[in-house]
Order: sequence, then structure tokens, then C-alpha cells
Amino acid sequence: MENRIQQIKEEALSEINSANDLKTLEAAKNKYISRNSEFNNLKKGLKDLDASQKPIIGALLNKVSKELENLINEKNELFYKKELNERLLNEKIDVTLDGEYIPQGKVHPLSKTTNEIVQIFNHLGFSVAELKNSPEVEVEKFNFDLLNVPKEHPARDVQDTFYCKTAPNVILRSQTSNSQVRQMLDSKPPIKIISPGRVYRNESVSARKNNLFHQIEGLYVDKNVTIAQLKGVLNEFIRLYFGSGRPTRYRSSFFPFTEPSVEIDVQCIMCQGKGCSICSGTGWLEILGAGMVDPNVLKSVDIDPEVYSGFAFGMGVERLTMLKYAIDDIRLFFNNDERFLKQFN
Ligand SMILES: [Zn+2]
Repeated sequence: MENRIQQIKEEALSEINSANDLKTLEAAKNKYISRNSEFNNLKKGLKDLDASQKPIIGALLNKVSKELENLINEKNELFYKKELNERLLNEKIDVTLDGEYIPQGKVHPLSKTTNEIVQIFNHLGFSVAELKNSPEVEVEKFNFDLLNVPKEHPARDVQDTFYCKTAPNVILRSQTSNSQVRQMLDSKPPIKIISPGRVYRNESVSARKNNLFHQIEGLYVDKNVTIAQLKGVLNEFIRLYFGSGRPTRYRSSFFPFTEPSVEIDVQCIMCQGKGCSICSGTGWLEILGAGMVDPNVLKSVDIDPEVYSGFAFGMGVERLTMLKYAIDDIRLFFNNDERFLKQFN
């Protein structure tokens, strides 16, 4: 028995010593000191030995298996540290290396302008109209009829407006003013909203015109709303968007849905009023259309014009962006040319 123990010990020592990684060490551990190891089987056989032999063999078995276990634990720790060091060495990050270039997206200039304008009007107490009140696919009723646009008005012509071939009266809205009407039908005064969105005109595309562009509509309806308030709000908008000290003028104009109507010009940003090709030599740039909401429009949405009054305004996002950044071709906004887009942030 003692010889057998000695033999197993030598075998085990040679296997443990020659183990050169955690895996082979684990195999040796299973073979020699686990529950199914030969040592364990020998321990089970102790009960069949002579009483005089039991303590001697028992002690020897314990001693040897303890020795082997210690040796395995020592090597185990050694291998563990070695592997850890290797991993730390392999996975370390060299912070002095050049970083990898990750291209970053920029906000589209039209979104940038829209966000800026929305922020200004939020500051002036206007909230953005609900999206459901600003559909791009519209019926004539909300785009024209309720806005006091006569049946024979040229804006209704197929040369100006996109009509649906298969559904009569269905159009792509030609102005964001449909959101005014829908908002007034949806809620009672006071109403103080702005509504940004896409509009469509059946026009041939050029440097100045695109058949898709963006507008921002504004509407304020309450008791005793006056044209002085309209001027106050729009002058403050112009000051915040173009900077203070920019000369502004109001010209009387005509829109079917406002009475009186005005167009608002700012002094040309390019030539400071001297006259250039951008302002067609006039020194002025038109930036806004506005006016007091026509009583007929209020009536058409069941708001009593004897009690309430209001003003409305609309502006082109492309135009305002072109003026602010001296962009001379509207098509640049829609070509998705990175060289153009990455100039904005
Ligand atoms: Zn000019």
C-alpha cells in the first residue's frame, strides 16, 4: 500500500510539475485529488486494513494528498497571475496613439433656421401648433375656401398648386396657413401659435424657386388684438433674428386672408441699402407677409369677429436662411452635398 501511494505521488508530482497552463493543471487536480481520484479510492479502502495499519496509512494518505494540493494551489496562483499579466499587456490602451476620426452629423441649415425662429417665437409667447393641425396633404377647403381665397383665384390654378389626379379637391398644401384654420376650428381663443412645415408649389425649379419649400406660419387671436401688437411682435422677431439696428419697413399689400395686409422688408444684408443684385438694386429685402386676420376667415371657423380679432404672418425658411448666410441658390438645400452642409453646425 505504501509503495502504491509513493508511486501515485511520483506520477502526480511529475504531471503537476510538467503542467504549463491552467488547463493541464486542472486535469492533474481532477486526476489526483478530486473525489474520484485514486487517492480517494485508497482512502475508502482504509476500513479493510488491519487496525495497526489504519492510522499509519491514513496519515500518509492525508500527508501526500495535502502536499499535492498545496503544490497545485501554488502553481494555480502562479498561472493565474501569469495569464492576468498577459491579458493586461495585450489589452492595454496606448493613449498616445492618434484617435480614430468619427464623422459627426450637422444640423441641416433649414432645421437650424426653423429651430432658431421657433425659439424666438416661444420666447414671445407663441407655442408650436399640434402636428395634426398641420397636414401636408390637404383638401382645398382648408388650404383655400376657409381662408377666404375666391374660387377663381390664380393660386388655385393647377399651374400653381399640385392637385391629386384621382381624388378631387385633394392637394399638396401650398401654404402653412391651413394650420391656422385647423387650429381655430380645434380650439377657442386665445390662440397664439406658430406652425412650421413643408409647402408645395407647382413651379419650375431654379436658383430662386423650388417646388418644395418651408414656411413658418404665425397666428394670434384674442380680444382686442391690434396691428400695433403685430408690429411689436414682428419688430422684436427681426431684432432677434437679424440683430438690432437693422432698418425695417412695412408696405401695404394684399392677401385674401388678411385685411389690412402688409409686407415687411429689412434693409439688404449684402449691400446695407446701397443696392445690389440680391436686392435687385432696391436696397430692401422682403422677408415676411402679414396682416390682421380677415373677419371672413374668423366667421368661417365660428369665431365672432365682433368679439375677437387677430393677426397672422408667414415667412419662408429658405429665404430667411439664404439672406442670413448669403446663399445664392435654393437648390443647395436639397442636394445633400456634404461640402455645403458641413459648413453649418
Ligand atoms: Zn442689396
